[in-house]
Amino acid sequence: MKIALVTGGNKGIGLEIAKKLKKLGYKPVINYFSDDVAAKKACEEFDFCSVKADVSKEEEVNKMVSFIIEKFGKIDLLVNCAGIALKQKVLLDVSYEEALRVVNVNLMGTILVSKAVLENMIANRSGIIVNISSVYGEKGGSCEAVYSATKGGINAFTKALSKEVADANIRVNAVAPGFIDTDMNAHITKEERESFCKELPLKRIGTTEDVANAVCFLVKNTYLTGAIIPVDGGMQC
Ligand code: NAP
Repeated sequence: MKIALVTGGNKGIGLEIAKKLKKLGYKPVINYFSDDVAAKKACEEFDFCSVKADVSKEEEVNKMVSFIIEKFGKIDLLVNCAGIALKQKVLLDVSYEEALRVVNVNLMGTILVSKAVLENMIANRSGIIVNISSVYGEKGGSCEAVYSATKGGINAFTKALSKEVADANIRVNAVAPGFIDTDMNAHITKEERESFCKELPLKRIGTTEDVANAVCFLVKNTYLTGAIIPVDGGMQC
């Protein structure tokens, strides 16, 4: 049985990825931060296993990874999907604490969980890591400077790590979504959505399925590493 750890897997993009990975033959282990109800529901509905841990805390991450390896013996695939965004605001209005939290969850979380699973993957001389970045990691988003910086960091991390671990038969890629319909964007009004769609080449907001399909493509394509795949309806153009 192939084991996949999906961080932020109890809802939104992460949940859809876990569902699609199950169809590819993986046993998904979903990580989450706070929403026990959503995690329980996902486990009951889809026969997942869940682990609660804050990806920004090294001790919690290492405990989570040790638990999975003790239970299942290995981790074949890691999807770093856990992430947070601030409500859109200019940098001058972002506090030190807010900025640090976004950096710690999005960027440090990706680094810490990758580091934690690598020992097992290197020993097995096999592994796949897929990071969930954002179109803003390349393009930058006004009033989302800190979030954009974390996603740009994830892009650079993806490329650098892919070179470092290729010898151990480990592939590292990323998906860079545009605007996807999840809780993260629940605060955006209907009018704002409509005006955003008008500007978008494909004229629609993305679905969690659009992103999960790209993750599966990266998982299946064994000659791809160091790639950042945009899934954004043409936003990056
Ligand atoms: P979401 O519905 O808000 O889900 C966020 C997930 O991250 C939840 O599972 C949450 O767990 C988990 N999480 C948050 N902080 C965590 C922490 N410290 N440790 C572990 N897990 C944590 O968001 P989403 O839209 O699915 O976003 C998923 C990823 O896609 C993020 O990395 C986001 O940046 C990226 N993305 C999203 C969009 C978009 O338009 N939605 C666009 C580009 C990129 P709890 O629910 O338990 O707190």
